[in-house]
Amino acid sequence: MAPSDMAPSDMAPSDMAPGDMTPATARAATNGDAETVLEVQDLKKFFPVKRGLLSSTVGQVYAVDGVSFTIRRGETLGLVGESGCGKTTIGKLVMRLLEPTAGVVKILGTDITAVSGRGLRPYRREMQMVFQDPYSSLNPRMSAGAIVREPLKNYGLDGGSIGGEKQAEALFARVGLKREHMAKYPHEFSGGQRQRLGIARALALNPSLIVADEPVSALDVSVQAQVINLLMDLQVEYRLAFLFISHDLAVVEHISHRVAVMYLGKIVELTDKRTLFTTPLHPYTEALLAAVPVPDPEISRQRLILEGDVPSPINPPSGCRFHTRCPYAVERCRHEEPPLIEVQPGHAVACHLREVGAPPIKLEKRASATA
Ligand code: SF4
Repeated sequence: MAPSDMAPSDMAPSDMAPGDMTPATARAATNGDAETVLEVQDLKKFFPVKRGLLSSTVGQVYAVDGVSFTIRRGETLGLVGESGCGKTTIGKLVMRLLEPTAGVVKILGTDITAVSGRGLRPYRREMQMVFQDPYSSLNPRMSAGAIVREPLKNYGLDGGSIGGEKQAEALFARVGLKREHMAKYPHEFSGGQRQRLGIARALALNPSLIVADEPVSALDVSVQAQVINLLMDLQVEYRLAFLFISHDLAVVEHISHRVAVMYLGKIVELTDKRTLFTTPLHPYTEALLAAVPVPDPEISRQRLILEGDVPSPINPPSGCRFHTRCPYAVERCRHEEPPLIEVQPGHAVACHLREVGAPPIKLEKRASATA
């Protein structure tokens, strides 16, 4: 079975999230047999590097290099990794804001990479985006009500001015905004309210998929929890599929059913969130988790400190892209790229040391990487 076809084997929600987040127990109703909303197969995006007077191409930025995954109705896939690893590029490729270099993006079974122009309109309805900075994604010259009505108008679904007004009012109520907010302009809202407005606009066309790119990272922590809980409630109510892009592991752990970890344009680990956060198999995932502070002085955590910077995606390292920073790297890692394979049911990892039959990682080697 390809990793991208794996059903979520563990949809158990976290018991309680930080702050005033409510328990997710009643909300994470997802179904491993649910319809596949998004299917991404071997997706690639290379950006040319141009230099000189003639703008000749002198290289490529390998932003996304062979990524595959699926998301089912009612499921959230968290996409995590350091800045520049390619996660935002994947979001834009899925939304067709960028043209892929190669690969397939299927929305509800249709390959939209083969569709262009007006043919894309029915599929654009099915996928909406929530942005990191709600302020720059909202037209400052339009009232909040007009912003939410605009997609309805574009698709001829507003039913005239009164019908559109009523639909917008219902959406405002659903995201926790008041009717009187409809006459206000984006600069009159707080950050959290602006993000609620962005969510209302995304919901207007009743999409199947929402790509949320760092939707709470620009918000205060107390407001983050409210917006995350709102997204989770809306997911259950509308059976939405979420591609949730974030560098914040605590937020990803709270909202996701499965998590994909990216490094330099590739997915290096993909599994359900409980397995990922308790028994990560890839050294990079282990390092990411080790960097998260634990709010309990009684708990001491073995810390895997990565040395060096993330290599340039223009000339990514040969073999395993992580070998220049991996404390467990062996000779084979320098020249042979590990494929992403399912090493346990529902758990895929790209590491030679996790292949079936590979010797276990030696603990003394781990100790040398401990701070
Ligand atoms: Fe480290 Fe080698 Fe595994 Fe890559 S393949 S993560 S370098 S041990």
